[in-house]
Amino acid sequence: MSHIALLPSSGMGHLTPFIRLAALLTVHNLKITIITPYPTLSLAESQVLFNFFSTFPQIRQEKLHLLPLDNFSGNSEEDPFYCHIEVIRRSSHLLSSLLSSLSPPLAALITDMSLTASVIPITEALNIPNYIFFSSSAKMLTLFISFHTKANTNLYEMDALQIPTLEPIPKSWIPPPLLQDIDNQLKTYITENGKEMTKSDGILVNTLESIEQESLAALNGGKVILGLPSVTAIGLLPPCFNKCQSLAWLDTQPIGSVLYVSFGSRTAMSREQLKELGDGLMRSGYRFLWVVKDKKVDREDDKDLEDIIGNELTESVKERGLVVKHWLNQENILSHPAVGGFLSHCGWNSLTEAMWLGVRVLAWPQHGDQKINASLVERIGLGIWESSWGWGGEDIVKGQQIAEKVSELMGNELLRMKAVSVREKARAGMELGGTSMKMKALAKLIETWKKDN
Ligand code: UDP
Ligand code: UDP
Repeated sequence: MSHIALLPSSGMGHLTPFIRLAALLTVHNLKITIITPYPTLSLAESQVLFNFFSTFPQIRQEKLHLLPLDNFSGNSEEDPFYCHIEVIRRSSHLLSSLLSSLSPPLAALITDMSLTASVIPITEALNIPNYIFFSSSAKMLTLFISFHTKANTNLYEMDALQIPTLEPIPKSWIPPPLLQDIDNQLKTYITENGKEMTKSDGILVNTLESIEQESLAALNGGKVILGLPSVTAIGLLPPCFNKCQSLAWLDTQPIGSVLYVSFGSRTAMSREQLKELGDGLMRSGYRFLWVVKDKKVDREDDKDLEDIIGNELTESVKERGLVVKHWLNQENILSHPAVGGFLSHCGWNSLTEAMWLGVRVLAWPQHGDQKINASLVERIGLGIWESSWGWGGEDIVKGQQIAEKVSELMGNELLRMKAVSVREKARAGMELGGTSMKMKALAKLIETWKKDN
């Protein structure tokens, strides 16, 4: 039996697509191992891993024990998830003995994009094919792999970034740290990993040809960078476990009436912006389920809701909404019949879930790749994006503006129907055979792994 290992890195946005992929691989008569960096930074990651391995006992877990965190002098100004990735990177030499001890020997390793530069030399030395799983959009991949070629260009002076054969990416969509002339975590991360991707055996992206045809064609046609291995759209990966958390409040709401509001697993808005958001939701007149996050890392989120949004707002939102401050299983929420819209930061996993479940989206990108992802929302008919709102923390978006956009989304029947048709498209990559689901593009790759083994 061919043996495939998967190596995710830090943060739910990186872990989620890996466990979805691992779950899909189980129907292909393969031995699957997931190498999990240990400990995880967030509680959500450790809980999801625990549930996952209980649901899929046939998948083996190997822990990559990280070097102690205090060996790494992270700067408190820096993003904790990037610091954690740095710890994994610095611990990656420990992978050599781990990988070579796996039995039977690996037919392939699937590595998270953030570990490309540190893991490729190791798999090269061990002669193990290494596939990079890119956990954002193919459009973001075009920027990721070409960024290092712009090292000598002052991006700040440009209006847009031109990637051959593609529509230019406006400067305002580019993650701001990439425009700075000083070094920073994001620049180093993208430069180093983007450069090494040509040395991998293939790149996997959780997307579909029908959604990102131009970017995929440019990547595979050698237009973005020469020498890139083949980029396979393996998606959209379906949600993988339906542990239904009951949410009594949602069960009592009319069909399609609730706006779900969440900014993902690692984005904390300022208190001032949270208050405007609460005000906007109330003004809109629509029902809502709002997940409030006060800290990037969930383990540090210890304040009560009243302390964050104030007593008055906490009381008034009860009229029409439910506000929580804990982890909700987003797949379950988005698939609930009462949910009719999603105010999202446009993390790629959140968007793929909205596509898979056919829920219209009001895009409010906050940082990183999110504006590039948001640009697809309107293009594919999934929803609307008010691009004048800018990056998270740049300007405060007022309650009144938020209320108007929420009404525009929730009151638009055509948008609801368009989002439903995106769902049909989203599922086109899937092949139903008996009780198991197979992804067509993935099936081809698996044949290669079995043949070469
Ligand atoms: N998620 C969830 N519950 C939450 C917040 C997030 O289940 O309260 C999941 C969400 O469904 C998605 C992942 O965590 O699969 C977050 O990834 P995404 O790429 O959307 O954004 P990030 O959190 O990385 O910014
Ligand atoms: N940020 C955040 N969560 C993240 C990444 C960044 O809250 O997952 C914060 C980051 O610390 C900074 C702001 O968002 O204060 C802007 O992020 P940035 O433009 O640096 O882009 P990113 O590093 O997210 O790609």
